[in-house]
Amino acid sequence: MATVVNVNTTNNSAPAPYIPYVQCIPTAPVAPAAPAAPALQPIPSVGPKSCSVICPNCRQQVRTRVSSQSTNKTHIIALILCLAMLCPCAVCMYCTPCTRNVNHYCPACKALVNTYER
Ligand SMILES: [Zn+2]
Repeated sequence: MATVVNVNTTNNSAPAPYIPYVQCIPTAPVAPAAPAAPALQPIPSVGPKSCSVICPNCRQQVRTRVSSQSTNKTHIIALILCLAMLCPCAVCMYCTPCTRNVNHYCPACKALVNTYER
């Protein structure tokens, strides 16, 4: 008596899913895209007075807030004036803005936009 071999292989393990052969097509070497450099806003040139510029920091059209600042030149000239017995003139050096640099600040982000140098 022939033994009936159960060919029905219905086991619980699912058959491996069919993976279609993916043809690997060598693509032409693509030149690596240049890293997108952030578009640097040119530093606007400024004058001795408040002016309308595009802030390089926040990129807004703003009117600068100016603040004059004593420079080494101011101190040297004041020292020379003091040595020349012109102390009142030396004091004037610090009072008048015409011997001091002018810093332009962005009123929106408070960043220093540029300095007008005397
Ligand atoms: Zn700004």
